[in-house]
Amino acid sequence: MSGRYAILCIDDEETILESLSMELGGRFPGVILELLQDNAEAEALVAGLLASGIEVPVVVCDYIMPGRRGDAVLAAIHRLAPAARTVMLTGQSSLEGVTTAINQANLYRYIAKPWDKDDLALTLQGALESYIQEATIQRQNQALKELNEGLERKVAERTEALRTANAELTEANRKIGEYLGIIDRQVLICRISRAGLVTYVSDALCRRSGYSRADLIGLNYWHALYSATTETLMRDILARIERGQEWEGEILHQCRNGDYYWAHETISPDVCEDGTILGFTSIRQDITDKKAVEALSVTDPLTGLANRRQFQQVLEGEIARARRGARALAFCLLDVDHFKAYNDHYGHAAGDRVLQQLGRLLTESFKRGCDFTFRIGGEEFALLFPVHDAEEAAATAAALVTQVEAQAIEHAFGNPGPHLTISMGVRLIDPAEHALDMDQVFEEADRLLYRAKREGRNRFVMHDGALRPAGTA
Ligand SMILES: [Mg+2]
Repeated sequence: MSGRYAILCIDDEETILESLSMELGGRFPGVILELLQDNAEAEALVAGLLASGIEVPVVVCDYIMPGRRGDAVLAAIHRLAPAARTVMLTGQSSLEGVTTAINQANLYRYIAKPWDKDDLALTLQGALESYIQEATIQRQNQALKELNEGLERKVAERTEALRTANAELTEANRKIGEYLGIIDRQVLICRISRAGLVTYVSDALCRRSGYSRADLIGLNYWHALYSATTETLMRDILARIERGQEWEGEILHQCRNGDYYWAHETISPDVCEDGTILGFTSIRQDITDKKAVEALSVTDPLTGLANRRQFQQVLEGEIARARRGARALAFCLLDVDHFKAYNDHYGHAAGDRVLQQLGRLLTESFKRGCDFTFRIGGEEFALLFPVHDAEEAAATAAALVTQVEAQAIEHAFGNPGPHLTISMGVRLIDPAEHALDMDQVFEEADRLLYRAKREGRNRFVMHDGALRPAGTA
C-alpha cells in the first residue's frame, strides 16, 4: 500500500505536530504522514493528494484553532473525502463542537488532550484498518455490481436474440404451413405406410380422383394401383421401390365416377439413415391433357381411326413382326365409290357422317389387337390384318364390301346400285418376301383398287401371287 495512503494531522501548535510526528512516524509503514499547521490549506492539501492518487483514510484535527474550529475543518474535508475517518483532538471539550463533527464530518473518535500515546496509535490503527476494510468491501461490491450488470446485459442481449429467433421461427413456421397448404391444394400426393396402407392424401388428389379422404385413408395402395396397371408394370414398380429406388412412369387411374385420368407418377421410398424403408410417397402429375394431345396427333379427329402419320410406322412394324412370326398379312386400300358426287349432292356434313359411319364399321369389324385401321385422307381408308391364306383374305374383303352395301346408305348417284358402296385393292404380304418395299406395297394396293373401280366398283381385287412359295415368281 506504499504511497496510496496518507494520514493527515492538523494542529495550530507546532509542538503538538512535532509530538504527533514522533509518536506516529514509522508506526504505519508505507503510509505518508502529512502535518498541517494552517488549517486554511486543509481542503487544498486533501484535494492535491486525491488528485495524485493518494487516498486520505484518516484525518486527525485539533478543535481550537485560529480561523476555523476543528469541526468545520473536518466537515469540509468530509465533503472531499467522505470515507475518511476523522478524529478530533482538544483540551477543552465542547459538546456543540463534537456534535457538529459527529453530524457533519462522520466523526470516528473524539480524543482529549493530553492523549494517551497507545490509545491514539491504536485508534488511528483501527481507523486505518476500518477504512481499508470498507474500501475493500466497496471495491468488491463494485466488482460484483459490474459483474451483475454485465450478466444482466448479457441476459437482456440473449433474451432479445431469442425473441428475434423466435419471431423468425414463427414466421418460418407460418410460411412452411402456407407452402404445405399450397402443396396440399395443388399437388397430387399420397403417403403409404411400409405395409402399403394409405396414410395421407392431399386435397388435390381427392379433388382429381373424386374420392374423399375417408375413402382413401387405410386403403391398400398396391391393390388399388394393381387395378390401374398391368402385372408386369406392377412387378417392376414393387421391385424398384423394395430396393429403395424411385419408380416413375405413366399410369391410367380411374376416378370415383368411372372416368379415367393419365398421371405421370413418381413413387419414392422414404428411407431412414440405416437404409430401413419407413414407407413410400407417391406424387402424381395429371397428364391427361398431354395424352389427349398426343392421341389427337396420331388419330384422325373425324373417325377416331389412326391417321396417315401413324400409318407408315405401324405398317413397317407389323410387316417386320409378321416376318418374324412367318405370318401373312393383308394390306387393303379402300375408298367410297362416287364420294365426290355424294358430297356435292348431300353436302359436306352428310359426307362427314358417312365417313364416320364407315369408320365405326371398320373399328367394329377389325377389333383384334393385331388389326389396324387407318383413314389416310379424304374418303380413303387402309386396313392391315394377319391372315392364314389368300382364301381368308378374300373372304374378309368380300364380307366388308357386302357389309357396307348392306348399310343401305342412300346414294342418288350410286353406281352400280342406289346405295353407297366401296371398292378395295387387297395386297397380300408374304413373310418370305424379303426385299419388300413399303412404297411398292402401297402402289400395288392402289393399282388393285383402281382395277376394282375400273371393273365396276362395289368390289375388291386381290393380288393373288404373293402367297406362292418363295422363289417361285
Ligand atoms: Mg489548538
